[in-house]
Amino acid sequence: MAFESLTNRLNKAFRDITGKGKLTEKNMNDMLREVRMSLLEADVNYKVVKDFIDHVKEKALGADVMSSLNPSQMVVKIVHDEIVELLGTSEASINFKSSGITTIMMVGLQGTGKTTASAKIANVLKKKKARKPLLVACDIVRPAAIEQLKTLGNSIDVEVYSEGADVPALTQAKNAMEYAKANGYDTVLFDTAGRLHIDEELMQELADIKEAVQPDDILLTVDAMTGQDIVTVAQSFNEQLAVTGLVLTKLDGDSRGGGILSVRAITNVPVKFVGQGEKVDDLDIFYPDRMADRILGMGDIMTFVEQAQEKMDMEEQAKAASKMMSGKFTLDDMLMQIRQMNKLGSLGGIMKMIPGMSQMAGQIDEAKAEGQMKKTEAIILSMTMEERENPDILRASRKSRIAKGSGTQVADINRLIKQFEQTRQMMKMMGNMGKNGKMPNMGA
Ligand code: GDP
Repeated sequence: MAFESLTNRLNKAFRDITGKGKLTEKNMNDMLREVRMSLLEADVNYKVVKDFIDHVKEKALGADVMSSLNPSQMVVKIVHDEIVELLGTSEASINFKSSGITTIMMVGLQGTGKTTASAKIANVLKKKKARKPLLVACDIVRPAAIEQLKTLGNSIDVEVYSEGADVPALTQAKNAMEYAKANGYDTVLFDTAGRLHIDEELMQELADIKEAVQPDDILLTVDAMTGQDIVTVAQSFNEQLAVTGLVLTKLDGDSRGGGILSVRAITNVPVKFVGQGEKVDDLDIFYPDRMADRILGMGDIMTFVEQAQEKMDMEEQAKAASKMMSGKFTLDDMLMQIRQMNKLGSLGGIMKMIPGMSQMAGQIDEAKAEGQMKKTEAIILSMTMEERENPDILRASRKSRIAKGSGTQVADINRLIKQFEQTRQMMKMMGNMGKNGKMPNMGA
């Protein structure tokens, strides 16, 4: 999972100083040394680390920190704000034209997720910005890219313009602009060719397309898992094409954080989007403060709430909540809850976004938890509606039928029913307390 060891080390450094009653220059220096080591180990560029520590030191030694009510927490806040500063302070959005067609050129090395990101961005623009996007398949070098873009476009209901692999990309880019004009599109995204390494031929092809379509944005996809290499790649592309934004992909993978923390400071190109999975919905607008919270293990509750609102059926959720509180919760409702949870992604991913739980996220056995969820789903699916509504009718013969149908054991079914009964009792109790005006203390 992204940043896990960086987050853990930084948290240890913070615990060390917040645990000490009084902040002295010595223990602050110890902490800064630890922060420095954590960043270097996460593969952050050494010059970026040096400047970072210098800035934190300068601010932390300022008179108002030592005399503040809680100097240790002030220092943690300074580190946090400095990370936000590194990441780019404000949200960087697409440079939309005020009138006419906005053009976005996607560039990047092969395999970084350029084609996937083109479709993901088209999807975000369509859903969140009410745009009418057209995707253009200009990657005629990688044989599967055209079909891949068409499949992705189909899944999000966005048209893909392509004249096949035999017509030069530049010709297709020009024709696509005409097509967009004639058909009322307001945004055109060009998925261009990549290579395994930067080469002159590629750069020339991209420069020609740039010249022809005059893009409002040139977005470079970089793979978060490649660490500091991101910086070198971004510098080369930027020198030759003047990149206007980065799309950081595969942040769901095991990245150490070095790339994301170095690239903005060195290239001065803002990150605009982050890709967090293979599905077309797995893209987020990049918010530096939320990312800093996540790196520091402070959770990212804003993104969690947004994803919940977007991916879960909130009306169904409200209905389920009132049903739960009245004690009328059934196994069918439980099934629905499991499915809604699944839409939010992996359990570890969800926990990472909740403040206070991110440290635990790395400790859970995801495969086991997911296996358990699947088992529960299979058991409930093997029950009749009547059984789901009223599990009291489950006698031995019904249980063995369900076990057979779901590929589980009768013991698994007993366990699920027991768990379900406990949940139902607890929900009912909470509902009653709420009615009496005595809300239970959830935090205790
Ligand atoms: P391109 O060669 O740059 O166009 O790369 P593709 O879009 O074909 O992506 C390469 C591979 O990376 C594919 O298998 C994608 O499914 C996968 N991929 C793309 N973005 C992400 C992401 O954010 N997370 C993960 N886990 N995989 C991704």
